[in-house]
Amino acid sequence: MIDTFRHKGMRKQMVAEITEKGIYDSGVITALESVPRHLFLDNAFLEFAYQDKAFPIGAGQTISHPYTVAFQSQLLQIKKGEKILEIGTGCGYQTSILCYLGAKVFSIERQKSLYDKTKLLLPSLGYSPKLFFGDGYKGLPSFAPFDKIIVTAGAPFIPEALKEQLKIGGTLIIPVGDGKVQQMFSLKKTTDTLFVTKEHGDFKFVPLLEQKAQ
Ligand code: SAH
Repeated sequence: MIDTFRHKGMRKQMVAEITEKGIYDSGVITALESVPRHLFLDNAFLEFAYQDKAFPIGAGQTISHPYTVAFQSQLLQIKKGEKILEIGTGCGYQTSILCYLGAKVFSIERQKSLYDKTKLLLPSLGYSPKLFFGDGYKGLPSFAPFDKIIVTAGAPFIPEALKEQLKIGGTLIIPVGDGKVQQMFSLKKTTDTLFVTKEHGDFKFVPLLEQKAQ
């Protein structure tokens, strides 16, 4: 598949829709206008790629709504060169948005089939994050600390390891809740043990699973 003027037009329309819902960060808007979301989905979903919807990506998982990706990216306030840990690579769309924003991205996925597929796809689109197959609850201690951490699956609780692996002054964005709906939280680390926590409304994510990949 390729990226055509028609796809670019559809992206503009998608971005218009999400700015109406409250996305205002110009870097995030440019990233969503630029990264070709249809290339992350199976051909069957081509016509739907630019609707503000979640879609199946295999292994029982979904690509997040573009609005959710934009919202989490906006909360992260990424500056070029920052070291970001993402939990839940999935199809790599959010990962690519972070790369586009100039972050140095480390991303973990627990489904082997998705990890394998995304590891091939992203370099072919010109993005070069460091991808890991493993359990996001543990983070990546050997690459810590991180400037920012983003979790893209619904967590029943906030994993201690992720709080530990954040730099002082850094931010963790995580949807928390084990029901159908999660609350989006941002945690700013002010000292080794102190966090300023804010809540940012309800979202729906697939669960952050606790056992190791099958
Ligand atoms: N950012 C992704 C969203 C994918 S959905 C995208 O843009 O496509 C969330 C992803 O988190 C799924 O791929 C799921 O397999 C993964 N996941 C769930 N529990 C996990 C865990 N414990 N560690 C790492 N990844 C996990």
